[in-house]
Amino acid sequence: MAYLSDPKETIAVLQRYHFNFQKKFGQNFLIDGHVIEKIIAAAGIGKDDVVLEIGPGIGTLTQRLCEAAGDVVAVEIDRNLIPILTGDTCKDYKNLRIVSGDIMKTDIPALLAPYGDRPVKVVANLPYYITTPILMKLLEDRLPIESITVMVQKEVAERMETGPGTKDYGALSLAVQYYSEPYLAANVPANCFMPRPNVGSAVIRLTVHDTPPVSVKDERKMFALIRASFNQRRKTLVNGIGNAAELSYTKEQVAEALEKLGMPATIRGEALTLADFAALSDALEE
Ligand code: SAM
Repeated sequence: MAYLSDPKETIAVLQRYHFNFQKKFGQNFLIDGHVIEKIIAAAGIGKDDVVLEIGPGIGTLTQRLCEAAGDVVAVEIDRNLIPILTGDTCKDYKNLRIVSGDIMKTDIPALLAPYGDRPVKVVANLPYYITTPILMKLLEDRLPIESITVMVQKEVAERMETGPGTKDYGALSLAVQYYSEPYLAANVPANCFMPRPNVGSAVIRLTVHDTPPVSVKDERKMFALIRASFNQRRKTLVNGIGNAAELSYTKEQVAEALEKLGMPATIRGEALTLADFAALSDALEE
């Protein structure tokens, strides 16, 4: 069987089907076998695993996933790709289910129900236009997922991994770190894709926590505080939270809560750890 990680094979498939890349779907297909092996290794896939792949494209990563995993279910939005996957590049894999649809509108628990209690790992070369919404859906909905190993834009991977006091630190870092443990597995240059994206890429693995590393009385409120704190990055927390339309705290209440926690009233969101935001949220609740 011909592997699509060989660029010649990818070109042959694209020509056979007169395939036109759809920019609106973030289509940058992998054409590098080493990168595919790095993704498989970072995800730590074994024969007991069920893999959910988002956006299989013409099936480059899917082929290797089917060989490494027990079962693979792949959700693809572009209907033009479905016959290529099912009738050609991935037709011989008995452990593969291709689903035509938008992952954002997919009922993931129902999709995974046939696999019972088996561990599920998400693996994907994500469409970059929708990276954050996809990851937040997977994490916030508390889906039965063990880990998420994905190719993303390099800057986005850095934002997910970084801690307080850096320019990349923000709402995404805190959300990702509340639900999971990020690990940056590899940097990937643009020439590993067809067509080449005009940004650098990275493979990141998020190992999903059984329980979050901090406890907070009202998770939703804490994330509203976090969003308000980073919406206006340059403002102090007192002003950022005090002015936020989605919250109803006065500046005095915020200053009082900060004082109670031993933090100066001039502090900015970028200085607070996840534990600090949890404590602030609880203090404001009181
Ligand atoms: N996995 C392939 C590879 O590595 O070569 C393709 C990766 S490409 C970066 C992203 C893929 O996600 C495309 O096939 C695109 O059509 C698909 N896609 C984009 N938006 C999607 C969505 N909302 N739901 C499911 N698939 C989507």
